[in-house]
Formats: sequence, C-alpha cells, structure tokens
Amino acid sequence: MTPYMTQQTIPVDGADCRQAFSPSEMDLREQLVRFGRWVHRLGYTPGTAGNLSVRLDANLILSTPTGCSKALLHAADMVIVDNQGNKLSGMRNVTSEIGMHLAVYRMRPDVQAIVHTHPPIATAFAACGKALDEPICSEIMMTTGLVPLAPYATTGTEEVSASLEPFIPRHDAVLLANHGLLTYGSSLPDAFMKTETVEHFAQVCLSAHQLGGAKPLHERDIEKLQQARARYRLNASRGPSCS
Ligand SMILES: [Zn+2]
Repeated sequence: MTPYMTQQTIPVDGADCRQAFSPSEMDLREQLVRFGRWVHRLGYTPGTAGNLSVRLDANLILSTPTGCSKALLHAADMVIVDNQGNKLSGMRNVTSEIGMHLAVYRMRPDVQAIVHTHPPIATAFAACGKALDEPICSEIMMTTGLVPLAPYATTGTEEVSASLEPFIPRHDAVLLANHGLLTYGSSLPDAFMKTETVEHFAQVCLSAHQLGGAKPLHERDIEKLQQARARYRLNASRGPSCS
C-alpha cells in the first residue's frame, strides 16, 4: 500500500480532510481546487469542461474527477490513478480525458502538472484549424514558445494521446483541433500561467488580424528570445516554485 492509498471513506472537506491526507498531498489537492476555480472564473471551463492533474510521485497521479464543475470542487473530490489510469483512491471517477495527461507524464518526466481547458479564443483558433504559430509577441516566445495544433481526435479515446504524442517532447502547450488547449509544466501554477498566457496570445493574434495583420518579430530577435527562454527555464528549475 502506498502512503496515498489511505482512505476508503473520505471525509467531505475541511479539518477532517486535513487529517486524512499527508500535508504534501493535501497541499496538491488544495492547489487543484484553487486553480480549478481560477480557470472556471476566467471562463476557460464552462459546464463540466476541463481537467487538471498533478504528480504525487513517479507512479501516481492526482486528478480532478469527471462530470464536475471546476468551480465546485473540494479537496476530497480528487482521484488518484496509477500510470495506466487505474483508479486507486477517491469517491468519484477520474476525468474521461486522463489518457492525454498520462501520455504527457509518460513522455515528459520533467512535467509535474497539467491543465486542460477550453478557453474561448484559443479554442476558436483550434476550431478553425489554425495553430498559434506566428512569432508576433515576445511574451509567448518566452513562456511556451509557439503553440502547435494537434489533429482532431475523439475526446476520451486513445486517439487523443496519439494525436498529441508528436508534439509533447518539444512543446509545453498544444492546441487540440476542434476541442481546446493543453498546457503543462513544473508545477500547477506554472501550467496554469501557460494556459492564461496562450489565451492572451490568441486574443492578441485575433485582434492583430482584425487590425490588418501583425508584423512578425525578426529572425535574430526570435533567436535571442529562444536563448533567453532556455536560460529562464534553467533558472526556474533550480529556484523555488510559487503556489
Ligand atoms: Zn476537453
């Protein structure tokens, strides 16, 4: 039994919940609640859309459940699965989109957290078959790099992982055709901020097109930004993360 498989009957929330889980697990459960509410408040997860997950350790994933508003989640609602997606603990069932999370964790040992949402502008690009691949803003070049578009795949099936796999090693944010956005990083705050940055970039791209078309960054400036991003990522991996 792992230290995370402690509860068959999980209390609803609050002080009882704190006693049920280790401090580190409780912190990650509360982060999922906090960032779930945040993406919902921003309009990125209408209805029951979207899902978030974090690594508990090398073999276990803590995920949001299926069929729940991200505005209404409690720490005790989260579900623990293994690397194959088998449920190990939790009152609810895991998100039906856990497969694409597992594909990212499998291919990227450095990734600690994943955020999947349907932000309206980025999803509109995905619905139009357009990647966010124009180098027109320095911020996106520093944060995620340009955002590719994975081919359409039926949600909740193995097709989604297969469509994503070519992009996972070299990208931290991927648009899913006719579906939404997937971002991931070294922590839940990191993955969340990438989501926020991509949606902002999508808004800027849309506005720039409406204004007659943006002027792309010069090649030499793109190279400088790519070098700066590589340095930034190295420093971030050494420093403390915020939560
Ligand atoms: Zn989705």
